[in-house]
Amino acid sequence: MHHPRPPAPLRRLCATLCVSSLAAAAFGAHAAAAPAPAAAPEAVAAQLRDAALAGHDIAYQWVSELTSRFGPRPAGSVNEQQAAEWAAARFKELGFENVHIESFPVTAWVRGAESAQITSPLAQPLVAAALGESPPTPAAGVEGEVVTFASLDALKAAPPGSLSGKIAMVAGRMVRTQDGAGYGVAVDARVDGAGEAAQRGAIAFLLRSVGTDSHRLAHTGTTRYVDGRVPVPAFALSNPDADQIARLAALGEKVRVRLYSSASYVKDAHSQNVIADVRGRARPQEVVLLGAHLDSWDQGTGAVDDGTGMAIITAAAALIRDAPQRPRRTVRVVLFGSEEIAQPVAPYGAFGGHAYADNHKAELATHVLVGESDFGADRVYRLGLPQAVLQGEFAKTALRVLAPIGVLAATQAAQHVGTDVGPTVEAGVPEFALNQDGSGYFDIHHTADDTLDKIDQEQLEQNVAAWAALAWLAADSDVDFRTHGAPPPPQP
Ligand SMILES: [Zn+2]
Repeated sequence: MHHPRPPAPLRRLCATLCVSSLAAAAFGAHAAAAPAPAAAPEAVAAQLRDAALAGHDIAYQWVSELTSRFGPRPAGSVNEQQAAEWAAARFKELGFENVHIESFPVTAWVRGAESAQITSPLAQPLVAAALGESPPTPAAGVEGEVVTFASLDALKAAPPGSLSGKIAMVAGRMVRTQDGAGYGVAVDARVDGAGEAAQRGAIAFLLRSVGTDSHRLAHTGTTRYVDGRVPVPAFALSNPDADQIARLAALGEKVRVRLYSSASYVKDAHSQNVIADVRGRARPQEVVLLGAHLDSWDQGTGAVDDGTGMAIITAAAALIRDAPQRPRRTVRVVLFGSEEIAQPVAPYGAFGGHAYADNHKAELATHVLVGESDFGADRVYRLGLPQAVLQGEFAKTALRVLAPIGVLAATQAAQHVGTDVGPTVEAGVPEFALNQDGSGYFDIHHTADDTLDKIDQEQLEQNVAAWAALAWLAADSDVDFRTHGAPPPPQP
């Protein structure tokens, strides 16, 4: 009902592609009676790249409207559902084909009210956020002495029963890196900490946030079920608050903390994936899949996680759709639901990635390449390709197109490029990565500070340029990314 017609930049893009000198030469068939030869794929890729940088602001408009209209989009929420319907309507307006929504069941988690404070030796307020999936505390809260551990491994080394009646806290620090490697190391404590603490008798679990900032913002995120539930209430503390407790403990004080949460579960909720195609002109059954996730955590508005990912892949596919000639293969955009919670709910793993791989099982053999944008809005600096094409002509061409916007070759094959596309990759579909600079990503990741104002439009557009060019090259080629040029398997 409230879907305005495509914005001016889209019309401007058409002008960009149609009147530039290269396009005029290459796509003369557009206006002339006799068809001219099609432009070389590399020339089209370069044009798409340049069009994305020339004021093509579909991406920014997408993330701006999405975050303004729907705010946070927790998995299984009405906000997520309405955002999915909005996205499908926008896809249709942008001229995509096969636009539809695929629903799947989830158990939604609702934060409710929460609070945390030090009660002894003196009362002090704390900034905390319940971890996703955490059960509520009793109405009166839980209170106990805090036992601090430097790492998850240190907690695991504590004997059974040693934490009876206590609150366990893991106070490890996440390391800031460009490629986000620090997250993988730190996040285990968030995922497994509550279970390990409960096994040793703890009544609650606290975590120094998995984040690199020094602000009084807690970073939420999901934590793992053990025997069908998260066993004890689990909270992230803002980093300065966790450090405060650790310093008090180091001073020899017995620190007591009170925690309260009214979190709850909605058992019969549903989430959904939104699918849209730019149908290939020659081999439409072959799919280059671009993924991002539509759900977000609940405290911010999911602008950088993952509103920008959706915006980047949508804008890239829209550019390809509006090129004078379609690519040979289909470019498919999938906005996955329920990425942020990953609990097993039969018959699916709850997140949209499993639902997609299950629903499209028969088609995965003709999915030729898959990528995901889920690392914020900062610039792409590195291209990762499947092992089979790491050295070949495809890589050389792609890098010639991407080098002018600052993208270098990864020396290793792309792997684990996204949670949502994980099940599709596990089914044998090759993956690519356009790695973004993640140096600042974990300052706001999963916090209340994940809002639109954090997005740098110029860097966002550089992402669109890289995705449009790479997706076009893959879709217009007949490269077999599974085997092309593949070295023999390693000998045992
Ligand atoms: Zn994400």
